[in-house]
Amino acid sequence: MTSELQKGAESFLQNEITSALVGYEVRHSQAEMMGACSEVIEKGGILIVEAGTGTGKTFAYLIPAVLSGKKVIVSTRTKNLQEQLVGKDLKFLASLKDFDYALAKGRSNYLCLRRLHAFTPTRREEVSDYEVLMEWATETEAGDFEDFHQRNSTLLERVCSDSDACRKSKCQYYRQCFYYRARAKWDDAQILVVNHALFSINALMPDDAKILPEADVFIVDEAHALDSVLSSQIGITLSVRRFESIMNRLLKLEERGVYRGLLAKSPTLFPVIESLRSEMGLFWIRVKEGLKDQEIINDSFTLMELMQDLAESTTSCIDTIKASILGLFQEDEEIELKAAVTKLHMFAFDMETFAHGMEGFVRWPELEDKKIALRMIPIYPRDFVTANIVPAYETIILTSATLSVNKDFSLITDTLGLAGAKTRTLPSPFDIQKQVRIEIKRGINLLGNGEGIGKLAKVILDEAAKKEGGILVLFTSRHVMDNTWDLVFEDLMQMGLFPMKQGGDLANKTMLEVMRDTTKGIILGVDSFWEGVDIRGNSLKTLVITKLPFLLPTEPIVVAREEVLRKSGRNPFYEYMLPAAVLKFKQGFGRLIRSKDDEGRVIICDERIQTQRYGQRFLESIF
Ligand code: SF4
Repeated sequence: MTSELQKGAESFLQNEITSALVGYEVRHSQAEMMGACSEVIEKGGILIVEAGTGTGKTFAYLIPAVLSGKKVIVSTRTKNLQEQLVGKDLKFLASLKDFDYALAKGRSNYLCLRRLHAFTPTRREEVSDYEVLMEWATETEAGDFEDFHQRNSTLLERVCSDSDACRKSKCQYYRQCFYYRARAKWDDAQILVVNHALFSINALMPDDAKILPEADVFIVDEAHALDSVLSSQIGITLSVRRFESIMNRLLKLEERGVYRGLLAKSPTLFPVIESLRSEMGLFWIRVKEGLKDQEIINDSFTLMELMQDLAESTTSCIDTIKASILGLFQEDEEIELKAAVTKLHMFAFDMETFAHGMEGFVRWPELEDKKIALRMIPIYPRDFVTANIVPAYETIILTSATLSVNKDFSLITDTLGLAGAKTRTLPSPFDIQKQVRIEIKRGINLLGNGEGIGKLAKVILDEAAKKEGGILVLFTSRHVMDNTWDLVFEDLMQMGLFPMKQGGDLANKTMLEVMRDTTKGIILGVDSFWEGVDIRGNSLKTLVITKLPFLLPTEPIVVAREEVLRKSGRNPFYEYMLPAAVLKFKQGFGRLIRSKDDEGRVIICDERIQTQRYGQRFLESIF
């Protein structure tokens, strides 16, 4: 039976929206998705909707969300989608119906007036940056650093809002505080837009420390990415960078032999700080010598005792700092010092937790050049989701263009613990059969001795020579991408084209802007280019998928999940590796057709899609 909300939403879409947006076509799958969202918002429950590109997903969930009058949190993974929701969709809906909405950002995006006024620039270049910032502080309404264009990240780190360095209602700037004013808006807004990271941090907080207001409905767009963002927030990262940024705040020996930092006027503490620093330095050397990059750390962890000792040394260093500084500092300095000490304490706590490990978590080292880190994340975030997220909302809606493999949602329901959820698959309104031509190239083995890379380079050069429009080449390995780039770059330049490579001279965002502005762009990209890229018309006519995007079997989370499945008698390849690869393939494939007028070719350079039985699963998933 059609619910009241469903009727209201349908009429709003058919009447208000179509009269306000000339030429707007209501799509069948959009109306269906809106009906399903209306029902679950009204009655409660969990709904997972996979809706292909072009469905008009955002209106399909926003219209019933707004009309319901309920408090709603919408979470996205990317900034692009947040900007679309706040700057376009919600703004437009609010012009037709009276309701409040807001965008919530992480605390460090806002200027802290107390820290700004307490800050004393010491270096010459700092003085001028500080003056510009001071001037901006008098003009800005929101205190959001995104509106401050002369960014000096070291300075902003020192004056951003920080929960450890906040006096809350006791602060003399509390009434003008940008962060707390923003939070008041979040409380008042009916629809609050956040990103997955902020949502996850909030979910981890105890009830009395939550950042986001309570809500009735939680909508997750780009839901395919919730698993990884949530897992990394639940987990622990111990890195050289994290430790050094705390220690440098306390005490840093500058090139000219001068000590700076919060403890610079406490010479008696210098040896204590330096001793902890060198103990930690030795520890990282032992990590590099004793552990292998990306190898799972098991219970008989050789560095366990050393880590526990270090956690103790850190705690005793904190005690010494606390005992030695009483009465030495003014109020603002003391707040900063307490904040740094709190962060150091958290580091010691995480070290202790990491040393012992936790049931259901996987630990591993990352030893890439100078970026040394130890990571620990839950093998599955499902226990956390069922205990902390599901009970907090009447209604949860998850949506994305890629959540199922041929209508089977097991991968996401299993990972997030949402076994009882209702699921829907809605096809894209585009005619993919008509709009896309698929070509499969055989005999390209990218694992071999380089011959395969030569063949791939030839495919790219042949396509480029046709000059049909922009080309996006998706890789699964940075190494293969770099080697291919070396083989094609000169020739592409000579053809008068604009080759660009992820991690090269241009930032990803700039590469996409260049690509949209021309029909001569060629992007070679890995990971992030498989999703979220939206280039239309002749700017993107050819998509080259270099390899089927299977997860790396040596990745710690992959090894750990495979083992869990194997132990419970399940088949890790068919229940995890294959569906994960198909979903990523669908994401990549979806880059080509972004509107009903787009046409183009997809060239797949991995013959397994034809020669292996499972190859059919990839092909079926895209039509
Ligand atoms: S209330 Fe906290 S965040 Fe706001 S100005 Fe004061 S110290 Fe800074």
